[in-house]
Amino acid sequence: MDKIKMKTPLVEMDGDEMTRVIWKMIKDILITPYVDLKTEYYDLGLKNRDETDDRVTFDSARATKKYGVAVKCATITPNAERVKEYRLKQMWKSPNGTIRAILDGTVFRTPILVKGISPYIANWTKPITIARHAYGDVYRNVETTVPAGAKAELVVTGADGSEERLLIHDFETPGIVQGLHNIDKSIASFARACFNYALDQNQDLWFSTKDTISKKYDHRFKDIFQEIFTAEYRDAFEKAGITYFYTLIDDAVARVVRSSGGYIWACKNYDGDVMSDMVATAFGSLAMMTSVLVSPDGVYEYEAAHGTVQRHYYKYLRGETTSTNSMATLFAWTGALKKRGELDHTPELTKFSEKLEQAALQTIEEGFMTGDLASLSTLPEKHSVDTETFLKEIDKRLVSLLS
Ligand code: NAP
Ligand code: MG
Repeated sequence: MDKIKMKTPLVEMDGDEMTRVIWKMIKDILITPYVDLKTEYYDLGLKNRDETDDRVTFDSARATKKYGVAVKCATITPNAERVKEYRLKQMWKSPNGTIRAILDGTVFRTPILVKGISPYIANWTKPITIARHAYGDVYRNVETTVPAGAKAELVVTGADGSEERLLIHDFETPGIVQGLHNIDKSIASFARACFNYALDQNQDLWFSTKDTISKKYDHRFKDIFQEIFTAEYRDAFEKAGITYFYTLIDDAVARVVRSSGGYIWACKNYDGDVMSDMVATAFGSLAMMTSVLVSPDGVYEYEAAHGTVQRHYYKYLRGETTSTNSMATLFAWTGALKKRGELDHTPELTKFSEKLEQAALQTIEEGFMTGDLASLSTLPEKHSVDTETFLKEIDKRLVSLLS
């Protein structure tokens, strides 16, 4: 069989620890034997970020803007321990944060569903995708403690020196105070990323805030979404047969729990942080969550939602075999290849990626899975296998799907 050709390179962002090991295995076992893989390679491993003074992260994000599609391996976000472990020049920032800031993107997280791993919420038969706004609110807050007798005010000074002053609270007893902000431009980007992604996935979009209580702040989010929807997306949604639905966050939570899934739920920064952990846990496993960063101008960066699986990596370094789940990383690759195929009009590449996903799901549904899933699966007959055996089992099924 001739290898599938690619027109435009993928931006490949390599990473750290166990996921770096899995990365190479996935390419060697499941991709390069079938695809004449074209990538522009950026090594975002911590050592190389340090050696390049983190330039490599910025370069990889700019390349993503240029080519339109990237696939990223999990990377270490350095803390004090990592600075010692890798003798870093400094505590480099989170690569995901850097890339997100350059692409101005929104992160969409979707669980991979397989038979045998049942969600804790039995009626969730289709995936729920959470879109989290990644700017502002409590993540960029200013806060302080307030002594008794103090008065807290909100002061906004205009460019012309004019002042608006609002009393927050007269503190008769000690307390706390916090200032939050967001920016119309960022909210609009978030809205467009969500509307575009809903069209891309052909799924309904839900959005929720607490606008009944927060009549200016949260209401602004609601208004911006509605204005952009009406002006730019209403017709396309109608044509696609999908809907945009706004509701209060409390109502959304109740509806989500009762739903069967199959839609995108857009959340403000804090709601998205909390709700994505809830949804991931309820669907069964963090190792089965995929994640894609979508910019408002239609640039896509695919990755797994989990980290570098450090504990497994130390076992691997001691020469022990590990059973690390490679599904989310594999689906990052298939997601990116599918998107590349779609943008380049190379249906062979898209079809191959779909078959690879199908082979991976079939492998688990036929009872071959890594240890983390074996402990959750309700299949009567199951085999807990190591990472490499799992990928080779996928390959067996891929071969028969391709022939
Ligand atoms: P983690 O890598 O997500 O792993 C936490 C635990 O979850 C693991 O020890 C393992 O549990 C389980 N797990 C996660 N993924 C798994 C998989 N694919 N297969 C099997 N089990 C899996 O989080 P962490 O250990 O807190 O973080 C390690 C490093 O990752 C940190 O340096 C952090 O900065 C980085 N990180 C990067 C990203 C990213 O690049 N997107 C995201 C999060 C964290 P058991 O040990 O019980 O088997
Ligand atoms: Mg969280």
